[in-house]
Amino acid sequence: MPESRTYGRRRSLPARPAEESGSKQGRGDAAPARRDAAEREPISGRVVATGAGQTAMAGWDDVDKIASAASGDFYLKVTENRTVIKILSDGPFDVYASHWIDEIEDGSKSVRCWANSECPLCGIGDKAKRFSACFDVVSMEDPDAPAIKVWEAGIKIARQLKDIATDSKRGPLDRADLYFTIRKETKKKSVEYTLERVKERDLEEEYNVPPLTHEELVEFLSQRHEYGAVVKEPLDQEAMDEVVHLLMEDA
Ligand SMILES: [Zn+2]
Repeated sequence: MPESRTYGRRRSLPARPAEESGSKQGRGDAAPARRDAAEREPISGRVVATGAGQTAMAGWDDVDKIASAASGDFYLKVTENRTVIKILSDGPFDVYASHWIDEIEDGSKSVRCWANSECPLCGIGDKAKRFSACFDVVSMEDPDAPAIKVWEAGIKIARQLKDIATDSKRGPLDRADLYFTIRKETKKKSVEYTLERVKERDLEEEYNVPPLTHEELVEFLSQRHEYGAVVKEPLDQEAMDEVVHLLMEDA
């Protein structure tokens, strides 16, 4: 399979991915903006539209993407049941750290760190503790209806993926015959994720999942994000000031 990132037009991100399950893990927890800030910048949850182009087809693509986002399908949901996935590129298209602000009651509690010395939250000593590496994957959760998702992997899984990606025998992650399973285990105080490699030839027998056809794979690859696409846009200064204010009030 070709390695290039030159597949056609990229997938446009929905204006606002729906909130995921409300779990403390906060993977993709972008929630609607605060209602009382309606005419100002939303406090969170905006994403950058990556511009599918001006064609009518792009418009129809958006219908599906936004409908899917509205129904909470934008992100891969990792559950206790093993889910077979196919990773669509050899690295994450976006990596970021975020601050977790419990005080935000109506909106995403996860705020993307500016990742520079100007970050207002870092500035008041809050640490960006949450790490996300975003991958495009095909979820085979329903083997009859494979679907493209954004997978936000945490630091441990990201390191495992990097090890595989940089290992010429096990990688690259998007090798044609390579699939993965991912599941989570909720322990008393933590959630642990388990990632396993699966060879295409073992998929049917071990997981009852038929491999993607070449046509399906090509179609999914054409929908990947380009490197650098942003799933969770940083807040601007004004919205950040609001968050900082919220924290100061609380102190
Ligand atoms: Zn920060």
